[in-house]
Amino acid sequence: MELLKNKILQEGKVLSESVLKVDSFLNHQIDPELMQEIGKEFATRFADSNITKILSIESSGIAPAMMAGLYLGVPVIFARKRKSLTLTDHLYTSSVHSFTKNETNDISVSKDFLLADDVVLVIDDFLANGQAVHGLVDIIEQAKAQLAGVGIVIEKGFQPGGAAIREQGIRVESLANIRSLVNGKVEFFSEVNAK
Ligand code: 5GP
Repeated sequence: MELLKNKILQEGKVLSESVLKVDSFLNHQIDPELMQEIGKEFATRFADSNITKILSIESSGIAPAMMAGLYLGVPVIFARKRKSLTLTDHLYTSSVHSFTKNETNDISVSKDFLLADDVVLVIDDFLANGQAVHGLVDIIEQAKAQLAGVGIVIEKGFQPGGAAIREQGIRVESLANIRSLVNGKVEFFSEVNAK
């Protein structure tokens, strides 16, 4: 998605050979018009999948998931990283190790919102080692719902998550796929290689 790639090139900050900071439009300040285009793009790519729900994870997955939900006309659920006081044991839970924070969180989703007849699209901001997606897929399996695929805003294709998830036969659509962050420079896979 050219609009997104240009934004990454203009505003992304390469913090190391493995971490990209995009605080100006995705992870802290949010660019609503860009999110709208991202939502449209996910909706187009998964238009034929009969999606009934989107599942994301707080906090940075929510904005793109929300816009995709708007264009697909379906509700958006986000997994919580801490059990809230109002949620009791009526929950699906999974453990997720955070790539950026180097900590493990239990994520949870209320059993009220994910049902066995749902067809679910998973959406997240980044795909690195695949832990976040793995936890969300685990929750979908616990609910006995159907997984339609995974939509990622920025995949770091030089890390193993994307390949591991695709090897399981899961459809992954990333809107920008980074080949390298070496020497402070962002390089993308071409669209052909990215899929
Ligand atoms: P994974 O679970 O695939 O290893 O990592 C994905 C999660 O880690 C995303 O939800 C995202 O919040 C965070 N993440 C991973 N890599 C990066 C990165 O390079 N930059 C930012 N801003 N977040 C990242």
